[in-house]
Amino acid sequence: MRRQSKAFSQFIDIAEIQVIAGDGGNGCVSFRREKFVPRGGPDGGNGGRGGDVILRSDPHLSTLLDYKYKRIIKAGRGVHGKGKDQQGRRGKPVIVRVPPGTVVLDATDGSLLYDMAEKDEVIIARGGRGGRGNAMFATPSDRAPRRAEEGSPGEERRIILELKLIADIGLVGKPNVGKSTLLATLTSARPKVGAYPFTTLRPHLGVLDYHDRSVVLADIPGLIEGAHSGKGLGHEFLRHIERTKVLVCMLDASCADSEGELESLRRELRLYDVDVADKPYVVVLNKVDLLPESEVRALKREAKFFPVSAVTGYGLKDLVGRMVGLLDELNADDVDGEGDDDEEGKKP
Ligand code: GDP
Ligand code: MG
Repeated sequence: MRRQSKAFSQFIDIAEIQVIAGDGGNGCVSFRREKFVPRGGPDGGNGGRGGDVILRSDPHLSTLLDYKYKRIIKAGRGVHGKGKDQQGRRGKPVIVRVPPGTVVLDATDGSLLYDMAEKDEVIIARGGRGGRGNAMFATPSDRAPRRAEEGSPGEERRIILELKLIADIGLVGKPNVGKSTLLATLTSARPKVGAYPFTTLRPHLGVLDYHDRSVVLADIPGLIEGAHSGKGLGHEFLRHIERTKVLVCMLDASCADSEGELESLRRELRLYDVDVADKPYVVVLNKVDLLPESEVRALKREAKFFPVSAVTGYGLKDLVGRMVGLLDELNADDVDGEGDDDEEGKKP
């Protein structure tokens, strides 16, 4: 049931970045200065190691958008050694956070380097070794070596990050309730992901910024009566919906019987698949800008639905907060129940 559907494999988010680890610091040539001793023993310290560039899976991320704008990632260099046996400090590592399903390819030949679904963390570019200072080279026959090493350069490589986008949140509802409009309103702050030539992100996927995270929203094409039996847009729609974590059931406020509409929507989902009907959901009553203000206030007090207007933006802040809250609850559950769900459908 959970096999990767063809429709989904087309939503690929991709970014090419250059990762540069820090160079090692140089070793130092220095001699102790003591009163009346023209040249004391060697005391040049070693250079510090360069910082690594580390890739880390982060379940809070669901896109690679950060790396559209930040293409070069560089770790800190190791500090040079100094006299008085002072070792140089290590270079600061950089952590590149990526969504857990990210695949890492070598940009020069396209070969697969890592699948971050299987790893929490990898060193993608290793920092250079620090050079040894002259104190390290002293021997009984050479008590005053004037030799020290340079640090070695940090690794540098170009990589491609690739991610199959899976919507966190799916918008469902009858045609014309305003799904596309809501998606456009919520995700308009972001340019379409299509800055990349490979990106085939379709317009019905959007990315919503919420504080320091991004959430993928899918506008799922109109649910019509009989979708479960494969009529009309049924199947494509249902494959999408299977992968989302939270549903937003959308109703039109200008329709007389919201409760009835909701029931028919839920019925349609249940007929398709119990799993889908069991997903957490919020109910949204869109187009409340068409209602008199007193009625909107009453709806708000009632708190059965989220009254919103995709056009004016009314109620959207509350709605987004609730949607992200539901996702967080699910993520917290995932940590407890150690991802049996995540393992499914993964090919050996
Ligand atoms: P979809 O079929 O669910 O994707 O619906 P659309 O987003 O295409 O919207 C259908 C129609 O409803 C369009 O003419 C929209 O302009 C209109 N619409 C969507 N949201 C609102 C809203 O909040 N208020 C009003 N007045 N009209 C809306
Ligand atoms: Mg639409």
